[in-house]
Amino acid sequence: MNTTLQPAVAGLARRIEGPVLLPGQNGYDDERSGFNLACEHRPDVVVGAASTADVVAAVRFAADQGIQVVAQATGHGVGVPLEGGLLISTRRLDGVQLDPGARTARIEAGVRWRQVIDPAAASGLAPLSGSSPLVGAVSYTLGGGLPVLGRTFGWAADQVRRLEVVTADGELVIADPDQNADLFWALRGGKGGFGVVTAMEVDLVVPPGLYGGGLVFAAERAADVVHTWRDWTARLPDAMNSSAGLVRMPDAPGIPEPLRGRLTVHIRIAYAGPFDEGEELVRPLRDIGPRIVDTVAGLPLADIAAVYDDPTEPIAYDERSLMLSSFDEGAADALIAAAGPDASADGLIMVGVRQLGGALARPPRHPHALDHDDAAFSVAAIGLGPAAGDAVLSALAPWGTGLRFLNFVGGPAASVLAPEAFRTGTRDRLAAIKQVRDPGGVFPAPHLGVS
Ligand SMILES: Cc1cc2nc3c(=O)[nH]c(=O)nc-3n(C[C@H](O)[C@H](O)[C@H](O)COP(=O)(O)OP(=O)(O)OC[C@H]3O[C@@H](n4cnc5c(N)ncnc54)[C@H](O)[C@@H]3O)c2cc1C
Repeated sequence: MNTTLQPAVAGLARRIEGPVLLPGQNGYDDERSGFNLACEHRPDVVVGAASTADVVAAVRFAADQGIQVVAQATGHGVGVPLEGGLLISTRRLDGVQLDPGARTARIEAGVRWRQVIDPAAASGLAPLSGSSPLVGAVSYTLGGGLPVLGRTFGWAADQVRRLEVVTADGELVIADPDQNADLFWALRGGKGGFGVVTAMEVDLVVPPGLYGGGLVFAAERAADVVHTWRDWTARLPDAMNSSAGLVRMPDAPGIPEPLRGRLTVHIRIAYAGPFDEGEELVRPLRDIGPRIVDTVAGLPLADIAAVYDDPTEPIAYDERSLMLSSFDEGAADALIAAAGPDASADGLIMVGVRQLGGALARPPRHPHALDHDDAAFSVAAIGLGPAAGDAVLSALAPWGTGLRFLNFVGGPAASVLAPEAFRTGTRDRLAAIKQVRDPGGVFPAPHLGVS
């Protein structure tokens, strides 16, 4: 504990509406804990921001004290944990203002996607959320945001209209295409390190229907399923979104009996269109043979989380990413050899290959700091430790673009891997903006080499 901070913290607590907590105090552990148990922040002080003014006061305090600041909504995306410094817990900033007529939503920093998905669906609208509705909407979007319906509608970062940001000097500014355009560019893809985003305004989309869910096959069919899926992805309209995952379900209570402790192959489907068209398109996958589970059906927009059925309880994991320029027969063989039924794959929980392309490859409405327009597939490997994910990604390296997707780099490896999310020109431009906006390094940015 940084005892020299304590007198100043008492002064800060008087200016802050939410709780201000020191290590050992009631509520400190609860505020700093998050989804990934493998990397926990250990700040000198936690500010549970209850308003934008609290964020402003907290950032000014940290800048005055010469300590660093990290924001946390849910802890789904902790990269390099904060040791010392000040953690702003944003979970109380949970306002969502939906304008169904304008098809927009203003979303505050602590909001999880579930809080937007439900009211939007009631008006036939959808945000460009990812596989889990429990992830924080703002940070997901700052990392680019690869949506379940990405091929159909593009990156979540493309839908951002404006950001409300507290910068390193403790000022609240608007970043949009006309004001603070450098921040508007950097924060959409460049994620943390430029300020604390207190709210964002995004466009919502209008999917003409949703046919989706999961097809789960037994491990013995892994090669057949992965090759058939790979071949199938070559002939799809942009309305079809899918991925293939080799999933090792833990032998633990809560996991359904047919899946518990087994390797399975999980094909996730999200077709943004009518039921009958989706059903026809999916037929070749069902023709592979019997499924252990088949939940692919017409879905209400509010049920989009059923497509991936992601875990909801906190776990400790290491996540690694690689973008692929293609996923050909050789790549599918390499995946099966590294993570299939005959692989040792110690500690590997899941490796998923998501098809990109479509709207994800088209130029954005406003340029952003994402370098993945040439990526045809994204691979994410989640393991109990680094070794498992490393082995799979090494096997797939010959098909890699050389870049990683920042949102899929989490856990202890983040400091080494996150800089590889950008091409050199983009990283240099981000670093130059960082130098102007945060010369004192108030906000850590390991992905830009500022820790
Ligand atoms: C189960 C699961 C499924 C996922 N699915 C997808 C997916 O489909 N597509 C996808 O793109 N990503 C996905 N992700 C990754 C996820 O989008 C990122 O990890 C994201 O950063 C999580 O945001 P959070 O607010 O929940 O996490 P947090 O851990 O609270 O935040 C992560 C980091 O973001 C920064 N940050 C947080 N809040 C702010 C703020 N207000 N202002 C500035 N910086 C901030 C900080 O650096 C913080 O360390 C998934 C992650 C998990 C665990």
